[in-house]
Amino acid sequence: KDTFNKIAAGEVVERPASVVKELVENSIDAGATEIYVEIQSGGEELIKIVDNGEGILEEDLRNAFLPHATSKIRTADDLFSIHTMGFRGEALSSIASVSKILTRSKTKEQDGREILIEGGEIRYEKYSSMDQGTLMEIRDLFYNVPARKKFLKTPSREGAIISEIVSKISMAHPSISFFLVVDGKEMLRTYGTGNQKDVIRQVYSKKVHDHVFYFENHFDSFSIFGFIGHEEISRGSRAHETIFVNKRLVQSKVITTAAEKAFKSFATVSRFPFFVINIGIFPELIDVNIHPQKAEIKFEDDAHMFKSVFGTIHQSLREGLQ
Ligand code: ADP
Ligand code: MG
Repeated sequence: KDTFNKIAAGEVVERPASVVKELVENSIDAGATEIYVEIQSGGEELIKIVDNGEGILEEDLRNAFLPHATSKIRTADDLFSIHTMGFRGEALSSIASVSKILTRSKTKEQDGREILIEGGEIRYEKYSSMDQGTLMEIRDLFYNVPARKKFLKTPSREGAIISEIVSKISMAHPSISFFLVVDGKEMLRTYGTGNQKDVIRQVYSKKVHDHVFYFENHFDSFSIFGFIGHEEISRGSRAHETIFVNKRLVQSKVITTAAEKAFKSFATVSRFPFFVINIGIFPELIDVNIHPQKAEIKFEDDAHMFKSVFGTIHQSLREGLQ
């Protein structure tokens, strides 16, 4: 069972940033309006997440760390209309099996509780005095999986990957205030204003903020909206290309290719443009289930999506350049 968990963990927990992503998504699913993230040594030493979400019920606390413990899917049909970030109930059990994880959680109605799990083993569980919400402290990630530890990059590189993930997630959730601290230094702060452009300013710079403009377009079963830049503000990589589908940070070859192709028609824009593309679509028309880390997304009608994204961005750039 132990080995099985460690293998399964490899699929969900590839590196510290995957832990951060899963935990932040849990905080979002819990309805948090404030999420604090702190890491030390690229997350290898410490990953700490504090939220003010609904908390975990006393009687559910232990179970949350068991494989396939999810409070989010109740019937098989739910799988086809997922509205939450998480749904597999794999993250906490995977993380718990390859680290030392201290959790404190309190719901509105109950007292707070604290539980310590090391390498999948519960060390203790007890009462904890605290405000509503959840705190998780993950220490010594992969301490019992040396093979995986060897694959990690330097702490500063792992830290940068974490900063990028938190920054991008914060753009998808402009109503949530995020606070990211890396090795004691404040790296990102957003204010929950509800405006994605405000978050773009916090994540990138005032310059980027001042050079991007809003676009939107509506189709029968989905909407496309976001921000694009019509000047050279990207640094010759895809770091400034962000795609959210139903607020989930995703990779999509279809959308990336369509958007980049639209930009290519305009000489003022570099090969790797700046864009934040949000797609709101009926959950039945996408498949987020094909990748363990839920990153690459599939659309029911790729060709239609390609045309729609290309058309929308091409048109918006043309108008924006006038
Ligand atoms: P999933 O998100 O797929 O349901 P996880 O393993 O990530 O599975 O989490 C297991 C369960 O633990 C969740 O379904 C949720 O009930 C609970 N949980 C985890 N993190 C939090 C949190 N920050 N606030 C409230 N509940 C949480
Ligand atoms: Mg989850």
